[in-house]
Amino acid sequence: MAYDNDNIFAKILRGEIPAFKVHEDENVLAFMDIMPQADGHVLVIPKTPAVTLLDLPADAAATTIQAVQKVARGLKAALNVEGIVLMQLSGEAAGQTVPHVHFHLIPTHIHHLGKH
Ligand code: ADP
Repeated sequence: MAYDNDNIFAKILRGEIPAFKVHEDENVLAFMDIMPQADGHVLVIPKTPAVTLLDLPADAAATTIQAVQKVARGLKAALNVEGIVLMQLSGEAAGQTVPHVHFHLIPTHIHHLGKH
C-alpha cells in the first residue's frame, strides 16, 4: 500500500493537528493515544514515512525501538508502572487503522501517588 501523506499521524508530524507530545527527536515522535487503553498509553512513531513496520528501513526501525525503550523507561519512572504491553499492528488485517507505523506502549498496573 502506498503511503498516504494525509493520514492523521503525518498531520501530527507536520503540526497540522495537535498531539500531547511526550518525546521528540530528529527520528521519532511519541505522544499520548487519544483513546487510551490504560492510563499512560503512548504511541511512538518514526518520522520516516512508512505504512507498516515491514516497510520501515532498518535504520529507522532501530531508532524507533530505541525511542520505545526510552519512553518505556520514562513511563516506568514517572508512573511507577509495573509492566508495559508493547503492541504493534502491521496491516489492516491485523487491526491497524492509522496507516503510519506506530508502537503502542500500554502501561499495566499503575500505582498512583498516594493511593494503594
Ligand atoms: P487500532 O485503532 O485498532 O488500535 P492502530 O494500531 O492503527 O489500530 O492504532 C491507532 C491508534 O491511534 C489508536 O489507539 C487510536 O486511539 C490512536 N489515535 C487515532 N487518532 C489519534 C490522534 N489524533 N491522536 C492520538 N492518537 C490517535
